[in-house]
Amino acid sequence: MKKIQMVDLKGQYDAIKDTVNTSIQEVLDTNAYINGPQVHAFQKSLEDYLGVKHVIPCANGTDALQIAMMGLGLQPGDEVITADFTFAATVEVIALLQLTPVLVDVDMYNMNINIDKIRKAITPKTKAIVPVHLFGRAANMEAIMALAKEHNLYVIEDNAQAIGANCKFSDGTKKKAGTIGHVGATSFFPSKNLGCYGDGGAIFTNDDTLAHTLRGIVNHGMYERYHHDVVGVNSRLDSIQAAVLNAKLPLLDQYSKARQNAARKYTAALEGHKNIIAPSICEICDCHVFHQYTLRIIDADRNGLMQHLLDKGIPCAIYYPIPLHSQKAYADARYKEEDFPVTNQLVKEVISLPMHTELDDEQIQFITQSILEFLNK
Ligand SMILES: *Cc1c(COP(=O)(O)O)cnc(C)c1O
Repeated sequence: MKKIQMVDLKGQYDAIKDTVNTSIQEVLDTNAYINGPQVHAFQKSLEDYLGVKHVIPCANGTDALQIAMMGLGLQPGDEVITADFTFAATVEVIALLQLTPVLVDVDMYNMNINIDKIRKAITPKTKAIVPVHLFGRAANMEAIMALAKEHNLYVIEDNAQAIGANCKFSDGTKKKAGTIGHVGATSFFPSKNLGCYGDGGAIFTNDDTLAHTLRGIVNHGMYERYHHDVVGVNSRLDSIQAAVLNAKLPLLDQYSKARQNAARKYTAALEGHKNIIAPSICEICDCHVFHQYTLRIIDADRNGLMQHLLDKGIPCAIYYPIPLHSQKAYADARYKEEDFPVTNQLVKEVISLPMHTELDDEQIQFITQSILEFLNK
């Protein structure tokens, strides 16, 4: 059996080596390291893929979120509602811009932000909602957009984990996650579903005016050379990373399918066990692209299971072990433990299994058997 890895970047690279190398070589031959034709080509291809009017490439996913918030003109003291159960980058940029993060609990069934809790958290100071499509599963954007419209709020989608996932609407239409809110942000960190070989990110919007503003902000607030109209940042996707992404974007749907196939096999082997809640597999709408495959372990020793797997050479991880409201940096007297029953439970129950495009049946079988062996002993 091949060595099991949490993410198999080497295996994926080996399968596409020639295309990637040729693409990178073009950058080296032309020396257009910054803002080269590869960056523009990638921007266009991603706009087409997502069905969004504007893609603005930038240096990483955290910057993408920050720039999105700057572009919307959010001001110190404005309240921004986001999920308690996510990676810290989401709340970090809110705090950095001196906006006030307002963390709310998530839903048990999809681990995404809870709509009723958003509604309860809205005050006259609320300016935006930041849903995170956690672990690759699209949040309920229809409900979030309706609520935002009712209260005149911006919606900034953190799509770092769910590029390619679909959001389904009750009229039967589907749109790509990240393109439904006023603005979306993603990351091309190597282990993300569309990863480059360094750091990278992008911002999406259908709003022409906002797109123009964002293009200036990523480039020192410059709209005309050496005319700085607004305070900006330096946040660029470099040409070599764009070259890698140009080679990989055409494979993204195939990669999502490979992840969904692995997830289907995990769930088939594990669901129904009394100590396991496995993620459901949606067979129709591709609303989950499995950035992570995350189980809940109930009434059993989750940490013991983790050690058992690690001892057998099976990597696994806890995303995320501590709720954001319990983090020193984001503690706030207004939070009460009883406001976060779901996150507080999830941090004790979740375990993420190896998930990537190169997992084979033998590995999946070994992983699921090892889990059942521990829980049944
Ligand atoms: C990875 C990630 C980010 C940040 O992306 P970087 O490119 O690492 O800055 C933001 N939000 C979520 C939910 C992420 O998973």
